[in-house]
Amino acid sequence: MKDQINLLVRLQEKDEALDLLRKQLAAMPQQIKELERKVADMKAKLEAEQERLQKARMAQREYEAEVEDNIAHVKKSKVRLLSIKSNKEYQALLKEIEDTERSKAENEDRMLAYMEEVERLNQNLKEKEKDLSTVRQNLDSKRKKIESEITEVQEELSRAEKEREKIAKALRPELLGRYEQIKARSGGIAVACVENATCSACHLNIPPQMYNELQKGDSLKFCPHCERFIYWKANSASK
Ligand SMILES: [Zn+2]
Repeated sequence: MKDQINLLVRLQEKDEALDLLRKQLAAMPQQIKELERKVADMKAKLEAEQERLQKARMAQREYEAEVEDNIAHVKKSKVRLLSIKSNKEYQALLKEIEDTERSKAENEDRMLAYMEEVERLNQNLKEKEKDLSTVRQNLDSKRKKIESEITEVQEELSRAEKEREKIAKALRPELLGRYEQIKARSGGIAVACVENATCSACHLNIPPQMYNELQKGDSLKFCPHCERFIYWKANSASK
């Protein structure tokens, strides 16, 4: 019986290790996905920034064209001014030239503002491009690392599965069946060690009589509270 109890303990340990490995394995592709999301997010922001830059460039060019128009207009008007005889017309044209000069100044201000905006966006874009390329490189190396880790964990998992199979085979079939049953209904833990007369799974006390018998380690016991297999701590060291 001692031997069977030891097997149960080992089976429980192996199952916990397997659980951990499976969880690890499931979490690994998630890490890659997170990085991919980050790259996609940065790329989208970069593209939005590129669009803003393009719009600012277009606006800058528009105001440049306006200024050129204004200059041409003033030039033409000044030529016309020479041939005007009527004072009233002359004054009117002078005022128009003045107005156009004012528009030109305003348009120049706007053009300069957009030039500065283009400069700023350009700088910003360069930094973002650099960041993106860094994160991309990071993604590539992390992906490779995680992929090799996945292979390692898979190998470890299949080794552990084989070991588990061996333990399960050595266990009496009815005990194995019972183990699976308890495990299924007790949150994956079917075997609990008892220390200081307390079940480590449910943290309740084991009756003294049972505790005494448990310490002998020659009969199979169940926790009277959580109904898991129990074993005495000192016994686990002797496996
Ligand atoms: Zn218990």
